[in-house]
Amino acid sequence: MASDKRVQVTLECQGCRRRNYITTKSKVNTRERIELKKFCRWCRSHVDHKETR
Ligand SMILES: [Zn+2]
Repeated sequence: MASDKRVQVTLECQGCRRRNYITTKSKVNTRERIELKKFCRWCRSHVDHKETR
């Protein structure tokens, strides 16, 4: 299924700094840190979530 080129990343809310999501990304396609707009239930709105390590 998932190849060894996919790595797990944690997404951190840029509003409250909570780590709300864990997802995977392809290391081949995405070499830089990813940013996604996700719903944060603590901020109660859609905010940018950035990859942490
Ligand atoms: Zn938040």
